[in-house]
Amino acid sequence: MAPPGELLEALRKPGGTVLCLGHVHPDGDVLGTLLGLGLALSAAGASVTFAGPHPVPDVLAFLPGSDRWQVWKAAPAFFDIIVMTDCPNPDRSEGLLEGARGPRSRVLNIDHHPDNRRYGSIDWIDPSAAATGEMIFDLLVALGLPLTPAIALNLFTAVHTDTGSFRYSNTTPRTFRIAAELAAAGADPALVSDRLYQQRGRDSLVQLGTVLRRVEVSDDGQVAWLSVPRDLVPRELVESEDLVSYPRSIGGVKVAVLLREEAPGTVKASLRAKGEVAVNKIAHRFGGGGHENAAGCTLSGTLEEAAASLLQAVREALASGRS
Ligand code: 5GP
Ligand code: MN
Repeated sequence: MAPPGELLEALRKPGGTVLCLGHVHPDGDVLGTLLGLGLALSAAGASVTFAGPHPVPDVLAFLPGSDRWQVWKAAPAFFDIIVMTDCPNPDRSEGLLEGARGPRSRVLNIDHHPDNRRYGSIDWIDPSAAATGEMIFDLLVALGLPLTPAIALNLFTAVHTDTGSFRYSNTTPRTFRIAAELAAAGADPALVSDRLYQQRGRDSLVQLGTVLRRVEVSDDGQVAWLSVPRDLVPRELVESEDLVSYPRSIGGVKVAVLLREEAPGTVKASLRAKGEVAVNKIAHRFGGGGHENAAGCTLSGTLEEAAASLLQAVREALASGRS
């Protein structure tokens, strides 16, 4: 799906101020796309600010431009253009979008989530894209902006992380064509793998062992889950490891769930499927969202209570999928 003409128009000569705004707990796709697009617009002469409610996680601090990322509690001013990428729900900016959006602001909402709420002045939503990184690649090409190695590294990381290193079912021929272009433009695939997966702390494998002992599998083998209490292991480990990939890796498992206690009474859940159950429908029931095979939500209650209600919903979804 090509970028809409009005989006190209808005970005061709962006006069005034541009805010590249991230959502809560930014991941590789959000940061890679905001930094990739923002660096390209900066190089074209725009006045670009990068900000969000949370900092760049350590594991993504290698992304070029991440030193320009600001953490805000409130937006300091209105911006002429606000770009949000990979963010289906404006509430996920924790009020920063409302604060930065003045009467004359134009909000550019660029995303690949099917449940995007179309809150932009211009919405470009393409659920066929594996990552928003693919869309920003097409956008920069359409704008004729140069793909520097720094921009290519950001976009390559966006695509790499959202496809689980090109392993998930969202990976398409288009994904590889774009990844090839990005590698040719200077993104080093080995460097990305090294920064994402080969920089663990000394104690992390022992801590990972502590966590992985808690994996549980349903009697029928179709659901696997992992509940992580607060303070079991350092928060950085939970944030830097793709923990839900471990229950997901068990053969026969159709739905994998990670539940982590964020604060007393608050549990963050990540859901993964392998094509048989749409886990975003389950997440929607709890006020969350995402993609068919990767979704998330936040639940209130203890870890045990959250696990019980979410696993019940998963069982119901599996049962209705079979009927
Ligand atoms: P993860 O499990 O890696 O945090 O997120 C997987 C997918 O689910 C991502 O596409 C993300 O946008 C979506 N997601 C995760 N948590 C939430 C949530 O609390 N609300 C919504 N709407 N989407 C979420
Ligand atoms: Mn994404």
